[in-house]
Amino acid sequence: MIIVMKQSSTPQDVEEVVGILKSRGLGANLSTGSQATIIGVLGDKAKLGGFDFELLDSVEKCVPIMHSYKLASREMCPDGRLVQAGGEVVGGKKLLMIAGPCAVENEEQIMKAAVGVKEAGATFLRGGAYKPRTSPYSFQGMEEEGLRLMRRAADATGLKVVSEVVAHDLIETAAKYCDMFQIGARNMQNFRLLREVGRSGVPVLLKRGISSTIEEWLDAAEYIMSEGNYNVVLCERGIRTFETATRNTLDVSAVPVVKERSSLPVIVDPSHAAGKSRYVLPLSLAAVAAGADGLIVEVHPNPAEALSDAAQQLTPQAYAALFQKVGAVAAAVGRSME
Ligand code: PEP
Ligand code: MN
Repeated sequence: MIIVMKQSSTPQDVEEVVGILKSRGLGANLSTGSQATIIGVLGDKAKLGGFDFELLDSVEKCVPIMHSYKLASREMCPDGRLVQAGGEVVGGKKLLMIAGPCAVENEEQIMKAAVGVKEAGATFLRGGAYKPRTSPYSFQGMEEEGLRLMRRAADATGLKVVSEVVAHDLIETAAKYCDMFQIGARNMQNFRLLREVGRSGVPVLLKRGISSTIEEWLDAAEYIMSEGNYNVVLCERGIRTFETATRNTLDVSAVPVVKERSSLPVIVDPSHAAGKSRYVLPLSLAAVAAGADGLIVEVHPNPAEALSDAAQQLTPQAYAALFQKVGAVAAAVGRSME
């Protein structure tokens, strides 16, 4: 439930409502929006024991939230949440531009990738150190050494680091190197992992599960937020459909749907959706035109030699061209690249 305060309400009125909630063992999420102050009620509403907030002079109305996710809902924060990650603000005018290789492979590779994506204009370096591979015989990643190399490349070029954590017992180690954790598509419903990244307080990039509905995806975000970590960015990366021409089907419509139902920013990963590098540019343009808050793109200094996802990675030159073209679409829809 949310409690919408009257425009004439004072900070003391808000405090009174929060106090009543606390005294009944409930939490409160405050959102001071452009229209009104909204107090989100956190916890089991039954604890109110029938208390009617609408009887208070300062309260405009109480509105139930009909979804299972509450903190992630649009109702709870109608103006949208601005997420803080590595000194960047996500969900405002500026697009979050993340780029880098599928996996960290060696020092030279990650350094070249970092230099290339930084020159193009990206602010975050991506790269997997713990790789969730379909086959146990495929390259599994460099683990902590990969994170160390990526941090070094990012620091040398002035980039921030986002990397996937695949298990809760890796969080402490990964937190030493990452500005943001990625939760991969295969782990979107690993609820223990979601809770633990929530507790870590590190900003989270939450990929949509391979066959997950938008509701399930937002429930997954709620797991993280319910632990007090509101710095969650959603990432549409394509879903599994009957179509085989692309690796996955990019659900562009998820962008406006998420914007309507959730207060969280949503970015798009055109690389894992396309599976082929030549489709990455058109999907990127479509994503930004549809209202995405940024892009995460795979970029490798020598894609043909990549140890994973070779077919979908862009060269740094191709990424620089993409960055320019995305800039034109961004300007057309009122967004900016810097
Ligand atoms: C990745 O971004 O490295 C990745 C494995 O993506 P996804 O979890 O979306 O498949
Ligand atoms: Mn990949």
